[in-house]
Amino acid sequence: MAQPGGATLVARKMKKPRLTFKQEIQTIQNLPRLQRLIVALKVAGVLLVAIGLEGIVTGKYLLPIVFIPLGVFVSMLPIKVRVDRCLACAAPLAPNQAICPVCGAPQA
Ligand SMILES: [Zn+2]
Repeated sequence: MAQPGGATLVARKMKKPRLTFKQEIQTIQNLPRLQRLIVALKVAGVLLVAIGLEGIVTGKYLLPIVFIPLGVFVSMLPIKVRVDRCLACAAPLAPNQAICPVCGAPQA
């Protein structure tokens, strides 16, 4: 507790091992899967909003009330994922952290 800065530095050094070849392959394999998920969520969000708009057109006002906020929420989910999860290993990240402290992957 006397030197919190020093303790954090040691913890960070211990938490960041060099990437092995196997880990690098895993990182590359994980990336497209997460990007696919992000694209799928965005498409799902657009579809949900479209269902809501269809409700306005057809006069079913319950549909837009339910689906438009849901669609917006689903579209926002990938942004949340990007902010607090590593793209490669899904480890929690501090806000705006550019490099994952666990696996060292850059957060593009
Ligand atoms: Zn990571």
